[in-house]
Amino acid sequence: MKPSTAAIRAGRRASASSLAPALWASSVWESGSMDDAHRRATALRADEFYGRYANPTVRSFEEAVAELEDAEDAMAFASGMGAIASVVFALCSAGDHIVAARQLYAGTLAFVQGPCARLGIEVTLVDGTDPSAFTAAVRPGQTTMVLAETPSNPRLELCDLHELGSIMGPFTVVDSTFATPLGQQPLAHGVDLVVHSATKGIAGHNDATIGVIAGEKDLIDAIWGYGVLHGAMASPFDALNALRGVRTMAVRTAHQCETALHLAEWVEQHPAVTTVHYPGLASHPQHDLAKRQMRQHGTVLAFELAGGTESARALIDRLQVARCATSLGGPETLVCHPKTTTHASLTPAEQELTGVTDGLVRVSVGLEDPADLIADLTTALG
Ligand SMILES: *Cc1c(COP(=O)(O)O)cnc(C)c1O
Repeated sequence: MKPSTAAIRAGRRASASSLAPALWASSVWESGSMDDAHRRATALRADEFYGRYANPTVRSFEEAVAELEDAEDAMAFASGMGAIASVVFALCSAGDHIVAARQLYAGTLAFVQGPCARLGIEVTLVDGTDPSAFTAAVRPGQTTMVLAETPSNPRLELCDLHELGSIMGPFTVVDSTFATPLGQQPLAHGVDLVVHSATKGIAGHNDATIGVIAGEKDLIDAIWGYGVLHGAMASPFDALNALRGVRTMAVRTAHQCETALHLAEWVEQHPAVTTVHYPGLASHPQHDLAKRQMRQHGTVLAFELAGGTESARALIDRLQVARCATSLGGPETLVCHPKTTTHASLTPAEQELTGVTDGLVRVSVGLEDPADLIADLTTALG
């Protein structure tokens, strides 16, 4: 079946004949006997035992994502960061080495440079757009993880999924949040684990904070074993909203990607704009790679204003339809100035390395009519 059909049919195990997902709010289940309690307590991912082990509503969401990623299994977490932190601590120990793209979400970057370094996990940052950089930085026998993000935040730079999937030895992990499971399939390229902040395009309505990973069952089971101790489990309420989001993801992302390309082409012609970053534009330096590995080019674009921070402030403060907020993938078009918000915690040197310039503005395209968004930008840029 096509992905949009799979998104409608997937993750219905815990709903019986109810068409909407059933909400299992319980944190605990009763066992029929002592032996039954033992069976539940020792089973892998038993979803009727205790909420930190698993939950049927969360399990339905996980099964839907596994189906969309063509994965054996999936596991949801309390947030995208909950997923990333759990994966790293489940698979890496003191003395291990991680190769990570320097173009990572600022929270992930802070995590690998802070807690990981503090606990003795060494991290090498490489330019994720350089096709051989990951491979060259791997130290055989010591590197246990290669961590990448594509498209990256906030400049929409790409990593070559085929190259990542070809790396043998370390676990390869790709944060695919900006693509959603409908935009690309890292696992099909041989990557071991795909990670999503489902808070964004998957849940898609700005009403759930939730993360999810997908991959081979053995690997997910091992991460679950650690995850039960880490405790960053997804809430059934968020899983319910996220599964609702899965149902409409195909029509939402199709509309958003189309509008994103339209806006990208429009701003590229505007005299106040020096550069536009969108993988679907022919001017994107990795447009060919985008065409090879992405089915959709994403719902986010970024552009640079010649006038720097002052121009960004003038634009963002004048916009009426687009709102000033940092998230992405929801129904409202959001604009943000990465330098002073999402990437404010980085040092000026790190900001420069990540390409977070004074005039950079990120736009998460929503579900409004494109004509209203263009009119809004026309007035505000003027
Ligand atoms: C938002 C985001 C995260 C973190 O997810 P949360 O759900 O906010 O914890 C990780 N990676 C990317 C690419 C993101 O956009």
